[in-house]
Amino acid sequence: MKTIVYADNAATTRLSQKAYERMLPYLSYEYGNASQPYSFARSPKRALKQARETIAECIGALPEEIFFTSCGTESDNWVVEGARKNNMPIVTSSIEHHAMLRPCEQAFKDGCDVVYLSVSCDGLISVAEAKRMMSLPNGLLSVMFANNEIGTIQPVAELAATAHEKGWLFHTDAVQAVGHTPISVHSMGIDMLSASAHKFNGPKGIGFLYLRKGIEWPSLIKGGAQEFGCRAGTENIASIVGMATALEENTAQMNHNMEHLSCLEKRLIDSLNTFGVKYVHNGSDNHIAGNISLSFTEIGGEALMHCLDLKGIIVSTGSACDSKETQISHVLKAVGIDEVLAKGTIRISLGKYNTTEDVDAIAYGIKSVLNR
Ligand code: PLP
Repeated sequence: MKTIVYADNAATTRLSQKAYERMLPYLSYEYGNASQPYSFARSPKRALKQARETIAECIGALPEEIFFTSCGTESDNWVVEGARKNNMPIVTSSIEHHAMLRPCEQAFKDGCDVVYLSVSCDGLISVAEAKRMMSLPNGLLSVMFANNEIGTIQPVAELAATAHEKGWLFHTDAVQAVGHTPISVHSMGIDMLSASAHKFNGPKGIGFLYLRKGIEWPSLIKGGAQEFGCRAGTENIASIVGMATALEENTAQMNHNMEHLSCLEKRLIDSLNTFGVKYVHNGSDNHIAGNISLSFTEIGGEALMHCLDLKGIIVSTGSACDSKETQISHVLKAVGIDEVLAKGTIRISLGKYNTTEDVDAIAYGIKSVLNR
C-alpha cells in the first residue's frame, strides 16, 4: 500500500489496534444477542455493561447516564427532537455541525423557537449573549465543545452554569472533544453530551449520548427495550467494546497526546514561517491540539488539497460533510473571514499517530505547491 501522510483526523481516525483486537470475539463467536436471558448472551451482556462503565468513568458520568447510539449525528438529532417534542426553545450557535443545524432548521419549521448565537473572529461564543438570548423560562442551550473546522474550544462550564441560572438545560456536541481534551460532565455541569467513536480511534457507526440522571427525554428510535427503554435496536456489542477501549486508551494517554500534538502543530507553523509561506491561521489559542485551519490567498483550498493529495498528503478543505459542497463553509462565514481567504482554506487535523516526519512533509508539500 502507498504510504500516506494522513492529516484529516477531524474527519475520522485510524482504529486503535487494541480496540480492533477487543472487538474481534464479538464479530465472530460471541455473537449472542445481549437482550436474551440465556447463558449464551452472558458474555456480550457483560461486555456491554463493562463498556458502559468504562465510558462513564472516562467522562465523569454514571453508567446509567450513557446511552449508545449509531453515531454523533444520531445523538445530536435525539437532543434536538427531544427539545422540540418538549416544546422547549433552543439557543444554539451559528458554527454547530450540520448534525445540529439541520435538525434545528426542521424544528424551527415545525414551530420551535430556535435562535443562533454569533461568534467572535476566533470562533468563541459570548456567554453574555447566550444569557440574553435565554429569555423564556425553560429551554435548551446547545453549544459545541470544540469546533470541527477551526478547533476552537468553548467556555462550556460557564455556559452550562449560565443555562442553569436561567432554568435551562445545557447540551454540548463534544464529537471533536471527547478523547482529546479533559471532560468531566458532572463537574462541568453538562446535562447532555454527544460523542462519536470514530473521532477518537474507535470504530465508525457507533456513538453515545450522555443524559444526566433525572432528565426525562423522549426517545428518538422507538422499538425494543434496549438502553433502559430509551433507545431501541439490538446493541452493536463489537463496536461498543471498540469505542470503550479506544476512549479508555485515549483518556489514559491524554496528557501525552495533547503535548505531542501541540509540539507537532508548533513545528508545522515554524516550518511554514521558515519557508516564508504566507497564510492566515484561523481559530483561537484555546483549541483542540492538532487542529490547524490555514487560509491562503494564492491558491484555492480545494486545489491545494488535491495537489497535496497527489503527493500522498491527506488534508481537507473543511468539515468532511461539507467538502462536497462548493459554497463557503458556514463556520468561516460566521467568524467573518473574507471570501478569498475562506475559499483558500485547508484544515490540517493531526492525530496521535502523526510524527515529526509527517508535519515536515506537510510543510514542505505546502511550500512546494505554493512555489510552483
Ligand atoms: N458533530 C461534530 C462536531 C462533528 O465533527 C461530526 C462529524 O464530523 C458530527 C457531529 C457527526 O458525527 P458522526 O460522523 O458520528 O455522525
